Amino acid sequence: MEFLQPEDWGEALEARAAYPGALPLWGGTDVMVELNFDKARPPAILDLTAVPELAAIERENGAIRIGSGVPYTRVIEELQDVLPALAQASRTVGSPQIRNRGTIGGNLGTASPAGDAHPPLLAAGATVEVASARATRSIAAHEFFEGPGRSKLRPDELVTAVTVPTAGRQEQFAKIGTRNAMVIAVCSFAVRVDRERGRVGTGIGSAGPTPLRAAEAEAFVEGLMAADEPIDAAARKRFGQLVSQAARPIDDHRGTADYRRHALGVLATRTLAWACG
Ligand SMILES: Cc1cc2nc3c(=O)[nH]c(=O)nc-3n(C[C@H](O)[C@H](O)[C@H](O)COP(=O)(O)OP(=O)(O)OC[C@H]3O[C@@H](n4cnc5c(N)ncnc54)[C@H](O)[C@@H]3O)c2cc1C
Repeated sequence: MEFLQPEDWGEALEARAAYPGALPLWGGTDVMVELNFDKARPPAILDLTAVPELAAIERENGAIRIGSGVPYTRVIEELQDVLPALAQASRTVGSPQIRNRGTIGGNLGTASPAGDAHPPLLAAGATVEVASARATRSIAAHEFFEGPGRSKLRPDELVTAVTVPTAGRQEQFAKIGTRNAMVIAVCSFAVRVDRERGRVGTGIGSAGPTPLRAAEAEAFVEGLMAADEPIDAAARKRFGQLVSQAARPIDDHRGTADYRRHALGVLATRTLAWACG
């Protein structure tokens, strides 16, 4: 197996174009599991860890641009004040070792419906920046995923960064697992309430073939805010119902579809109360 280690972004994109079968790698916390269990045998590994551009966190006008090689530990340490839901989600990922190695870009690359970074990115209206040697394009996070393990990323593209708006930072993330740590989500949910702009964002994890938004639930709370009506207990309950209706869960070894719908309703009701509290 060939091992490619570009030292800057230009070299990385050239290598991606020249070796379309090469498997990109940053933290390796998904890739190495695939290799060790013989689920993947790529002709080459494209190690991106020597590309400094991908490890940058930049504060832009009203948004944070997080390089695809930024690990969860840095999100927790450096971004908890500005992106609290993404930091909360990052805290629930794996163990300290996994959080030190695992990255937001790798989570997007794996495109698991259970990826913990995804619900807060959807709720915040984030965009995923991808690039090839030919062009760069931006994809709304809620349109990035196409199915379990599938995304809009083309074979000649790499994930460069994700840009997350910081406006309306009343946001929360919650996750249910079969134990308290080192656990893949049975389901998860993130909400962002931006009272200034009258906007609400949602992200459902592990309850559909891709991470999902609950558009009706968002519109319901936006309508209340526009009419200056309170987001009281009845409204929060209705929000929870609309979120659980938006889910498309399956029965699997981690939980039943019924349980996931129920749990999402509870998570949505609670996180909305916390976000508005
Ligand atoms: C013990 C354990 C516990 C875990 N717990 C959790 C958890 O609680 N929650 C959770 O969400 N995940 C969990 N994971 C999965 C994993 O840690 C995450 O998905 C992590 O974000 C992957 O990041 P990485 O940098 O290690 O990715 P890698 O393994 O390096 O890559 C993952 C995928 O993304 C692709 N990729 C990486 N970088 C790029 C790029 N720049 N452009 C294009 N493609 C790219 C790779 O080719 C590969 O397909 C766990 C894994 C382990 C082993």
